[in-house]
Amino acid sequence: MLAQPRASHFVDGRYMEDKAGAVIEVIYPATGAVIAVLHEATAAVMEAALASAARAQAAWAAMRPVERARILRKAADLIRERNPELARLETLDTGKPIQETLVADWPSGADALEYFAGIAPTVGGETIPLGRDFAYTIREALGVCVGIGAWNYPSQIACWKSAPALALGNAMVFKPSEVTPLGALKLAEIYIEAGLPAGLFNVVQGRGAVGSALVSDRRVAKVSLTGSVATGQKVYALAAAGVRHVTMELGGKSPILVFDDASLEDAVGAAMLGNFYSAGQVCSNGTRVFVQKGIKARFLQRLAERTAAIRLGDPLDEATQMGPLVSAAQLAKVLGYIETAKAEGATLICGGGQAGADGAFVLPTVFADVTDAMTIAQEEVFGPVMAVLDFDSEDEAVARANATEFGLAAGVFTADITRAHRVIGALQAGTCWINAYNLTPVEMPFGGSKLSGVGRENGRAAVEHYSQVKSIYVGMGPVDSPY
Ligand code: NAD
Repeated sequence: MLAQPRASHFVDGRYMEDKAGAVIEVIYPATGAVIAVLHEATAAVMEAALASAARAQAAWAAMRPVERARILRKAADLIRERNPELARLETLDTGKPIQETLVADWPSGADALEYFAGIAPTVGGETIPLGRDFAYTIREALGVCVGIGAWNYPSQIACWKSAPALALGNAMVFKPSEVTPLGALKLAEIYIEAGLPAGLFNVVQGRGAVGSALVSDRRVAKVSLTGSVATGQKVYALAAAGVRHVTMELGGKSPILVFDDASLEDAVGAAMLGNFYSAGQVCSNGTRVFVQKGIKARFLQRLAERTAAIRLGDPLDEATQMGPLVSAAQLAKVLGYIETAKAEGATLICGGGQAGADGAFVLPTVFADVTDAMTIAQEEVFGPVMAVLDFDSEDEAVARANATEFGLAAGVFTADITRAHRVIGALQAGTCWINAYNLTPVEMPFGGSKLSGVGRENGRAAVEHYSQVKSIYVGMGPVDSPY
């Protein structure tokens, strides 16, 4: 088989198998071929993973931060050295074009390892003067963290979660999406090769039930999920029962506002990036593109021209710009949304259906004259389907952009600097761009508001989500007790 790993799970520093677990077939979505067969984690595998994490964590937390950082930096170097083969595996696992996986997936993961390696040794506390006495604070690791990944950026997600967790002295048990289970196993191998002690990063495979069993374990201090809102609500509730820390990176229906004075080419290019990259399977995509009426005709014309030129095809060909969706199930879902948009009266500008008979390919699709009430303006499609809506005034656009339960991301395109900041200030979203879209450097915190999430990944903000404050009061004189 093309991409069969040595075993399904990676626990306590080595590969582990338990064929009693239900089968997971890994499918290359460009052809439908089965490229690996794995098994879900059984109770015994989960127990081994959690026990080894709990066992290894205290000694890891007691190390000097620079020593932990050195191991993460080594792992980042190994990722960069092996990027071509890792990118190929990511393409087989997800169907994303190699043109993207070579530059976006593992490289962004390596950035996270380097960044948090740099940050960890700088994390300290404060001293609080209290007259004769004083207090101080320290930031401690949380303990065992569970990471649960989505299928759209499987290896990046594994890195974005494990890098801050490990840098700050935690252990992690990571469950990849059952749709894309391969990359996280490579990360576990690389960590061990870089010198990470066994047990600190374990990978267990499985569907939702494995995830919820991990989240419910009493040894777990924190859960970080990337997934849909519906899953987030379940996982958050389970975590609440144990009063565990959470980071929730969930779905969105983010707006991009394009004003008449915007640079046309930049706005069109960004709207395409924010709808077609990874065949539209990006949580922060700007899937409601609000275009001011004065620029609408020119915007749609350039958008149609540039979209028609997108090269769809073999994901392993470096010239290919768009691959298939991740699975046949996702294909059916996206085609369903396209048919609904047509039935609800949106104007099809280009695309609008499946491409070819084999594989889960969808043509890059643009609908214009979309209204706020249409299904494609309300629900997350997670495919290459852009909805263009028009507007007259700034106030109207902001109000309509905010009329959603999601709050992941937002973008604005305008040459008026004052308006840019005013509009971004008024938009309800956790991650925003002005005259840019979907750039997520590790230095910048990333996450959502409203139903789109809780907590932040990346940036200094992530330190707070993988550590906790301990306050220590120091008495410097006699104890003043009334008894
Ligand atoms: P999903 O919610 O179906 O699954 C996400 C993960 O949760 C998978 O690993 C799955 O096995 C697991 N899971 C499912 N049910 C569970 C349960 N009851 N308990 C514990 N774990 C459970 O999401 P998906 O289809 O893999 O990914 C697409 C979704 O993820 C989209 O909504 C997208 O917007 C979102 N997403 C968000 C971000 C972000 O950073 N905000 C990034 C990528 C994807």
